[in-house]
Amino acid sequence: MRDLLPHTPQVAVFDTAFHQTMPPQAFHYALPADFYREYGVRRYGFHGSSHRYVARSASRYLGIPLEQLNLITLHLGNGASAAAIERGESIDTSMGLTPLEGLIMGTRCGDLDPAVHFYLQRKTGRPFGDIEGILNRESGLKGICGMNDMREIQRSAAQGDPQAELALSMFCYRVRKYIGAYYAALGTVDALIFTGGIGENSAVVRSRACYGLTALGISLDERRNGTAGGEITHIQMHDSRVKILVIPTDEEREIAEQTVEVIRKKGKG
Ligand code: AMP
Repeated sequence: MRDLLPHTPQVAVFDTAFHQTMPPQAFHYALPADFYREYGVRRYGFHGSSHRYVARSASRYLGIPLEQLNLITLHLGNGASAAAIERGESIDTSMGLTPLEGLIMGTRCGDLDPAVHFYLQRKTGRPFGDIEGILNRESGLKGICGMNDMREIQRSAAQGDPQAELALSMFCYRVRKYIGAYYAALGTVDALIFTGGIGENSAVVRSRACYGLTALGISLDERRNGTAGGEITHIQMHDSRVKILVIPTDEEREIAEQTVEVIRKKGKG
């Protein structure tokens, strides 16, 4: 790019940057400390541009400064992650050293007992490289039911396909568990935000992910939920303590805005 556009400033916006505010208790793995020091083995998190964009959009929509908001953001797409945002800063997120950890995704398994790798290796005799490929590209929704398009899965589940129903249930249950975990991490939550292809478009997933959370102050309005999409919408009941928002993400815009910020600061410096 330097050769092609020698006078254009180049800015790198890392998808992990937003999560750099995670405290040590959240970003460390319980492994020998040398692995962190020597190899940088820690949780980094991804989808940072998306989590930051929807957090800032929520602040504008609610008319409350970001520094005063506690949020749980759920980026549910082919890749999926959750983030706990305390007074505008990421304090935890579900992806780790790589995007494999956390929620169930289109083809990634998400959280898994690490011993499964060794067990599979012993049982199948396949090298670790193969198993890594299976966990990344043959697992998740696709592994469970053979499909990774949520629209198709919902259709098949509605027609009685038990594997599609299992995939849908597992996906939503994992999201619900993360909402509970991040609620505990934050103490109080002002808003729950759904984004990403599934989060923005699937009323079924949003409904199931919020199911049974009334005791936490999270009450979804099914009528609003059913018509949400395309623009920022709130979908909570009028007496829900926690706001529930559907926000279309725009990672490209977030990257462009951060690029402008960097260039402006550099110009001033
Ligand atoms: P993304 O990676 O953010 O583009 O999201 C892709 C995922 O969103 C795929 O699993 C799609 O099936 C899903 N998706 C897109 N539109 C819908 C919809 N109307 N209902 C359910 N899932 C959808």
